[in-house]
Amino acid sequence: MTKKLTLAAFLMGVVLILLTGSILMKNDFLHVYPPVAPKREQPGDPMDAPQDTLAQQMEGMDLLVVVNKRYPLAEEYEPVGLRQANVAVVDGNVMLIDAAASALEEMFAAASADGVSLVCSAGYRSKQRQEALYQSYVDAVDAAYADEVCARPRYSEHETGLAVDLSKEMDEGFVDTVEGQWLAEHAWEHGFVLRYPQGKEEVTGFPFTPGHYRYVGKEAAQAIVEKELTMEEYLDIEGGEYASMEEHE
Ligand SMILES: [Zn+2]
Repeated sequence: MTKKLTLAAFLMGVVLILLTGSILMKNDFLHVYPPVAPKREQPGDPMDAPQDTLAQQMEGMDLLVVVNKRYPLAEEYEPVGLRQANVAVVDGNVMLIDAAASALEEMFAAASADGVSLVCSAGYRSKQRQEALYQSYVDAVDAAYADEVCARPRYSEHETGLAVDLSKEMDEGFVDTVEGQWLAEHAWEHGFVLRYPQGKEEVTGFPFTPGHYRYVGKEAAQAIVEKELTMEEYLDIEGGEYASMEEHE
């Protein structure tokens, strides 16, 4: 009798497993699709992102990807759809993701119409380029100095193809120039935000950098500027210093 019961229970178990499996297969739960673009684990629910941004994410352009000293880019992350931005540059070419390049061109034209001549000194930087840049500061002084003036490779927003430097010197004095003031007033209208504002150093992990702007799209830019937020605050993502900062002390 006990043997029969055990057998019956076992058979029921097998039937249940088979049923669950077939339902999962039918609904394609077991099928693993390749991701549209390399994506990182980040706190914060992507469903909270505005709908247009979500649509762009589906196309492989994660316009709200956050890079800071807590969240580096994945080793294999490469921006999709880079192209040259047709704007005045300090030297060489400035490459950006297509949407950011178009927005930058639009912003330069609007500035020009207001009699303001913007110039771009940096856009996309590859991981190798950021590595070489960081290492040059390490070699010149030391790692502590390099961390003060330059992001470590994979920790620079320039590696996303969504960030630009819009001042030649990249010092705080830019905020008082005609160009710096025009940008502070109008950049958001074109989808760009001042990424490292004054007074938010502990949130962003970076010093006030009035020449560094980040493309986030018009909707997010408006919300960020209206509420005087950083990207970290807007997306509820942790920022601040490198977790391993003591390594260099
Ligand atoms: Zn920059």
